[in-house]
Amino acid sequence: MEKIKRIGVLTSGGDSPGMNAAVRAVVRTAVSNDIECIGIRRGYQGLINSDFVNLNSISVGHILSRGGTILYTARSEDFMTEKGRKKAVTTCKMLGLQGIVAIGGDGTFRGALELSRLGIPVVGVPATIDNDIGCTNYTIGFDTACNTAIECIDKLRDTMQSHERCSVVEVMGRNAGFLALYVGIAVGATAVLVPEHPVDFQKDVVERIQDSRLAGNTHFMIVVAEGAGSALDIGKKIHDSIGMEPRITVLGHIQRGGSPNARDRETATRMGYYAVRAFAEGRGNCIIATQEGSIVEIPIEEALQRKKHLQMERYEVMEAMQVSRIRHTEE
Ligand code: ATP
Repeated sequence: MEKIKRIGVLTSGGDSPGMNAAVRAVVRTAVSNDIECIGIRRGYQGLINSDFVNLNSISVGHILSRGGTILYTARSEDFMTEKGRKKAVTTCKMLGLQGIVAIGGDGTFRGALELSRLGIPVVGVPATIDNDIGCTNYTIGFDTACNTAIECIDKLRDTMQSHERCSVVEVMGRNAGFLALYVGIAVGATAVLVPEHPVDFQKDVVERIQDSRLAGNTHFMIVVAEGAGSALDIGKKIHDSIGMEPRITVLGHIQRGGSPNARDRETATRMGYYAVRAFAEGRGNCIIATQEGSIVEIPIEEALQRKKHLQMERYEVMEAMQVSRIRHTEE
């Protein structure tokens, strides 16, 4: 690759806490390597529409701690078409962009692969609260989202305990249960339902509540990933099966917001730094990933083929924390 003088940076797909920290790191690393950095707004749609902003070290000041993304994000239907992608390439050429740092989830990386096939080098930075990207142990935003959900559920538990109620809380995760399972373990849920584990309603929900009640509990917390079922339906089924009237909470987009925590700020900063280093050292078309605590580069095509499975031993840990089981072992 020729010496890079100008790159673009964009955020795409669902937003996640820490995206701004990654943008800041990309811009400041670029500047310190004598590379100009242009911010592309609204993801790939911004490349199609020439929607851009000049960025420098000062303009990314004070965004490290801010949730959301100053570049805005979007899901671009136009970029899914060949015509749209060709327009995006024209914008890159017009702006003199020799590379793009694309911050987002696996859809964003599929888009990155298409762009790289049209001759624009791309480096991807994984940012999604789902933590479901196969090539990396960690994705920016996951830890903050877990903490947001935990804070909400802890508050719910206070009132559930006072009124001796059952609560069903739906957390994000259409295809992956990382958020639900981590949060479920951290809040001591009675049951956790994830898309990766086929739900046996009687065994996984009804019997757990009954076991817990027999052990003396008077309030119950069920955590469900949206991909494993709707909290409303599960609440109705609990009512029909055991006569309880669960309270339903759908946490929704609140999980995507908020100031990124230490892990997300630090990871985003390191990933942004290494994304630009790759370009500065003549590499591209890779995803910046974490593996065993280190940052690695993985070719985009290979990265997209990698799968990450929910560690089902975590599910066993969650099950082992049931009050009834603890009591049985003590007897
Ligand atoms: P999240 O997991 O947080 O939703 P994501 O990056 O997976 O983030 P998507 O909406 O799946 O979010 O993808 C973001 C954008 O990437 C899409 O709106 C589209 O513009 C582009 N994109 C996704 N898949 C492709 C593809 N196969 N070809 C071209 N572009 C794609």
